[in-house]
Amino acid sequence: MITTQNAPASTERLSVNPPNRLLYGPGPSQVHPRVYQALAKQVVGHLDPYFFEIAQGVQKKLRTVYGTTNDLTLAISATGSGGMETAVSNFVDPGMKVALFSAGFFADRIGEMAKRHGGNVVRFEKPWGEIASDDETRDFIRRERPSVVAFVQAETSTGAFQPSKAICEAAHEVGAIVIADCVTSLGAMPVEIDKNGIDIAYSCTQKGLSCPPGLSPITVSPRAVERLKSRKQPNRSWYFDLKLLLDYYEGKKYHHTASASLFYALHEGLSLIEEEGLENRLERHRQANREFVKGIERLGLEMHVPADHRIWNLNTPRVPQGVDDAKVRAHLLQKHGIEIAGGFGPLAGKIFRVGIMGPFATTEGVNFFLDRFEEALRESGYRR
Ligand code: PLP
Repeated sequence: MITTQNAPASTERLSVNPPNRLLYGPGPSQVHPRVYQALAKQVVGHLDPYFFEIAQGVQKKLRTVYGTTNDLTLAISATGSGGMETAVSNFVDPGMKVALFSAGFFADRIGEMAKRHGGNVVRFEKPWGEIASDDETRDFIRRERPSVVAFVQAETSTGAFQPSKAICEAAHEVGAIVIADCVTSLGAMPVEIDKNGIDIAYSCTQKGLSCPPGLSPITVSPRAVERLKSRKQPNRSWYFDLKLLLDYYEGKKYHHTASASLFYALHEGLSLIEEEGLENRLERHRQANREFVKGIERLGLEMHVPADHRIWNLNTPRVPQGVDDAKVRAHLLQKHGIEIAGGFGPLAGKIFRVGIMGPFATTEGVNFFLDRFEEALRESGYRR
């Protein structure tokens, strides 16, 4: 059932009493009730044997959702941007050439971080909503011969999904390693780290994994670990230094005070995925995307991204002519407690960003949303 009652009941005596919301935006997504229960459990210390037991469980379960056997797989104490900074700071050194595929806001954030770490960033750009073709990725990498290649698998600012395989093959041909942003794809679309040959991937907890924000799962291939070991200079970022983080999670030596509560939540979120089965979960998101698109087209709207490279869990229907997207969003929030997002940058006012993820990626979740979306469009003056 689609209800805000999934959230813990409000308690008069607490100083916080958040409004009821149905999270249909690009993230955070709706948190499963079992994850809330896990969050409320007793905090243990960050060096407690129980904490390490949970952290190791998280590592093991992350390998499954990432589709990898990488030893170096763990959750960074930070949001998705912290995972991005971990990837960049450990693998981009001053003067290093970084080939960046850019077709949206988050790719540009990787570029900005890489520059700050001294990287020489060369860009292959496409308009927001498009992807680079296999031929384009190969040509660019072969021409530039970079040390690091970076791209965003699911670009949340546009709704486009960039395939990984051709990028990884060309990168390895020229001796580069590949950083992939899987912030929106993990847990909802096939990220397939080992199958694609991705060397470093990072994600977040608040989208496809349906947990609260605060941790960033990262995984690093043996090839990239070799690079890490051969670094001459220590990482300029102390907090995100993977060598120090390994001393903590494997050597059990204090590094920072990790949040036991967030680890419990992630452990529970990943257990829910395990119980459902990763394949079933991905298929559920694919199906929900199909149903969403059909419903959107029935309403007379168009999707911004062509069918063959859409993100399943983050939909970007175009705002119809004459409709103010802010009014539609305000109606949904004020009348139904439904959060969605608008576009930004070149897509400001042009697209809606609707997340159909986790518990809402069902026929019921899609129809519940579409009924209210149609009402909001009509209230905002939309006529077919
Ligand atoms: N990368 C992508 C593709 C994202 O969608 C986001 C956030 O939405 C980020 C990176 C940054 O993640 P966070 O906001 O958790 O720091």
